[in-house]
Amino acid sequence: MNKKRWMISIIVVLVIILLGIVTWIVADARDDKTADKSKQQNEITQEEQMQDTREDYGLKDGYVAADQSVWTTDVVNLRKEDNTDAEVLTKLPRRTELHCVATGDEWNLVEYQDWTGYVSVQYLTTEEPAANSHVVVIDPGHQGSGDSTTEPNGPGSSTMKARVAGGTHGTTTGVYEYQLTLAISLQLQAELESRGYTVYLTRTSHDVNISNMERAQYASSVGGEIAVRIHANGSENASVNGAMALAPSASNPYIAYLSDSSWYLSQCVLDSYCAATGMHNQGVTGSDTMTGINWSTVPVTILEMGYMTNPTDDVNMEDPAYQSRMVQGIANGIDAYFGL
Ligand SMILES: [Zn+2]
Repeated sequence: MNKKRWMISIIVVLVIILLGIVTWIVADARDDKTADKSKQQNEITQEEQMQDTREDYGLKDGYVAADQSVWTTDVVNLRKEDNTDAEVLTKLPRRTELHCVATGDEWNLVEYQDWTGYVSVQYLTTEEPAANSHVVVIDPGHQGSGDSTTEPNGPGSSTMKARVAGGTHGTTTGVYEYQLTLAISLQLQAELESRGYTVYLTRTSHDVNISNMERAQYASSVGGEIAVRIHANGSENASVNGAMALAPSASNPYIAYLSDSSWYLSQCVLDSYCAATGMHNQGVTGSDTMTGINWSTVPVTILEMGYMTNPTDDVNMEDPAYQSRMVQGIANGIDAYFGL
């Protein structure tokens, strides 16, 4: 009897162990199934979320939802659709921060102000552009009315010249030089600021009276590193066309020490300007008789953007698309001067 009981006990223990093993295997299998199921559910949820985002933004195939800042590396179009034939919603300046909501192989879907649209990825970066610490002074040549009262032509000079000359005007367009120079200067300011520069203008309206000497002194007073003076040319010969830049010569009686740097600045600005616009390049010329140059204490250039007395130059310089190229060209030249 004892032996039989002992046998039963052993069988009972074995059965319990066996049951335990079976329960463990079944439970494990069930866990696996549950895990598989929740993984599937998870995938479905993510897929649904992607689908939701796609629907929210009308995401097309090939786009992946994103939520990050991107910056433009050039002036670039924000388009309604992801192709170069699509409507341009707006033009984005260089270094503009955009909110990227979806990335694709060739285009990103971005938000900018009230717009949502596409920008080509070749003009975008995910790296925030470094700050640009350079300070540029732009002098829009002339003003609403010239001032024929005089001032010294340079520091200590007994030669007196008119404070501000009247400037030339467009023989075809009828636009005055002071109007053109301010229009370009304001656009140049916006472009340079978008490139990270600190920019000062000697004037932002026509109704001012600031002499050439005062303009040069203003550039020093605001800590300008360079002075870029914007002018347009005139000639009695209507066929004369093209752009030139003026810089103090090596024998300038006041600022010979700024001749090399001014000459380099002039060359950079003029060459980039002509490259961007296709304007005939008349080269850099030395000038030691201009009050605004002689009073300068920083590298200075005068850009004569074209001849307002030449019908082609005159009409071109009033064309908005051409003006945009003029501005890009000058800004590129300033970048080149600073080695950017
Ligand atoms: Zn002028």
